[in-house]
Amino acid sequence: MLSDYHVHTPLCRHAIGEPAEYIAAARSAGLDEIGFSDHCPMAGPEPFDDWRMDRADLPRYLTMIELARAEAAPFPVRLGLECDFIAGHEGWIEELTKMADWDYLIGSVHYVAPGWDVDNPRYVARFNQSPTAVNEIWTMYWLAYAKMAASGLFDFLAHPDLPKKFGHRPAGDLRRFYEPAIAAAAKSGVAIEISTAGLRKPAGELYPAQDFLLLAREAGIEILINSDAHAPAEIGLDFAKAVDAAHAAGFTHTLRFDRRQRRRVPLADGTA
Ligand SMILES: [Zn+2]
Ligand SMILES: [Zn+2]
Repeated sequence: MLSDYHVHTPLCRHAIGEPAEYIAAARSAGLDEIGFSDHCPMAGPEPFDDWRMDRADLPRYLTMIELARAEAAPFPVRLGLECDFIAGHEGWIEELTKMADWDYLIGSVHYVAPGWDVDNPRYVARFNQSPTAVNEIWTMYWLAYAKMAASGLFDFLAHPDLPKKFGHRPAGDLRRFYEPAIAAAAKSGVAIEISTAGLRKPAGELYPAQDFLLLAREAGIEILINSDAHAPAEIGLDFAKAVDAAHAAGFTHTLRFDRRQRRRVPLADGTA
């Protein structure tokens, strides 16, 4: 049995469907647990960008998930948050940590520089602005990812190789980018997700690539399988492919979270 812990709500302004619809989708996909993890509010002047809840929305988010949880009981509904890691702003994540009884916090890198979210189609031309741009963007991204992995602020980390979203990959062996992040995650003990969202993007493959998964397995890092659903129909999507990738890399277990305590559970059969 599997869970889906990377799930959004309309509060982030780019997801559709109410929590009850996501929960119904999780049940019909045969999952035995769901967790919501909408894009966190940010510190400072608002709006920070156009794809997250404002700080004033946070109480609404908490109430929304609490109600959905009560309605769905005994089906387990977890409360999480997808937090944008920006080096130097760790204090804000620490503040968010205290604002609710979270089951888990997800760490994500979207911003490779102030005002530049690497997965935003608005900035896709920057990958082609010079012959070295792809390499430079990947370098910025992975530097931030390794810092996030070392921070100890999160329960698991999202979509590891996100800069491949539009199909841009540097030449050569990409393990040079993965290794520092994996070493940092192994040291801090943070888990990493396998996200099926990459299959729905031009990248056309899971986040992360299989080489990353193999290195993560060798380093003793734990994994979760998530969809990053922004619509109920995306819940549990392509999970069999992710389970196959996990098995191929040697993983046998995934994690569940309850009030930031982790529990290992066996990975379901990829054909389920
Ligand atoms: Zn989103
Ligand atoms: Zn997400």
